[in-house]
Amino acid sequence: MMKYLSLPFIFLLLFSACEKEGPQMLIGAKIYEHSGSYNLLFEEWNQMGINTGFCSQELISDRDFMKEAREHEISTFVIFPVFFNPEALAQSPHIAAINRNGEVAAEEWVEFVCPSREDYRQQVVEKARHIVREHQPDGISIDFIRHFVYWEKVYPQRDPASLPVSCFDSLCLNHFLAETGITVPGELSTIPDQADWILNNHENAWTAWRSKLITSMAEVIARAAREEKPDILINIHLVPWAKEDFNGAIQKVAGQDIGALSKFSDYLSPMTYAHMVKQPPSWVHHIVEDIYIQTGGAVLPSIQVGKAYLETEFDLVEFRETMEAALQPPSSGVIIWSWERLITEPEKADLFKDIVTAQ
Ligand SMILES: [Zn+2]
Repeated sequence: MMKYLSLPFIFLLLFSACEKEGPQMLIGAKIYEHSGSYNLLFEEWNQMGINTGFCSQELISDRDFMKEAREHEISTFVIFPVFFNPEALAQSPHIAAINRNGEVAAEEWVEFVCPSREDYRQQVVEKARHIVREHQPDGISIDFIRHFVYWEKVYPQRDPASLPVSCFDSLCLNHFLAETGITVPGELSTIPDQADWILNNHENAWTAWRSKLITSMAEVIARAAREEKPDILINIHLVPWAKEDFNGAIQKVAGQDIGALSKFSDYLSPMTYAHMVKQPPSWVHHIVEDIYIQTGGAVLPSIQVGKAYLETEFDLVEFRETMEAALQPPSSGVIIWSWERLITEPEKADLFKDIVTAQ
């Protein structure tokens, strides 16, 4: 067959093959609100090399925002929280996730809806479907798609046994026992006793079952989004833990089965806020590599720009090193958290632009 192909055609084939080798890095910014001109905002993004916005539902619902984004060739992902829903919990406190002590799983602002609530799950899917249909974003960035854990304050020396495991409400317990055929000894009547018995005797079955609650939720959202817009891109926010960190807590605690999630998503995005969790900048690359080794898929680290939770200084040198670590292969790009934060520190904004445009 080859001998019938003309020489120019062969060159064309070679050329397009070469082009495919260097896909454009995704340079993203999480943005939650913006009060000024969208035209000026995206002009600035064009100059800085930011090509993708990870945007609040309010911005995605704003026609002017979407129109200006398209005109400036900025891709838009809607940030879509799943099990973190303070409004729903305020209205219906009984749907909260329950910890192994039988209490509502909550710490400071972090509280989660029980992931077994079928009515809640359906509402979430309908909401995703509606946003995609009405506003046609280029992507959906699925957030809080996990079990309860306040990972933002989990530091390297944390005892894994002290990390929270949920959800042990009657709905989750009954489903778990019915679906696995496991029977809790009759004399154990309290949630703490039943939870301890399950974790001591059937931890693997428990972990697999509760991870499936998360995977299936993400998969149904992805499918609904693709039914509304077949070329929509799916990004999933991950707790920034390597496979073996804290005794496998990414799955045992957060319920995030990286391999399963990667099968139907386009990007996995660990929230590698290194400074916040007392890790060095190089740790960002370590996490990206760990996820890439597990999945072979595109990994998009999200990095913090300014101080958060901790008062310790987060200077330009540390920001530069964090950016560089985030962009190191096999990373597919970087997302900054957040645009609002970046523009409060013009020196960091300049540095960001220098690093991105030198790529
Ligand atoms: Zn539950």
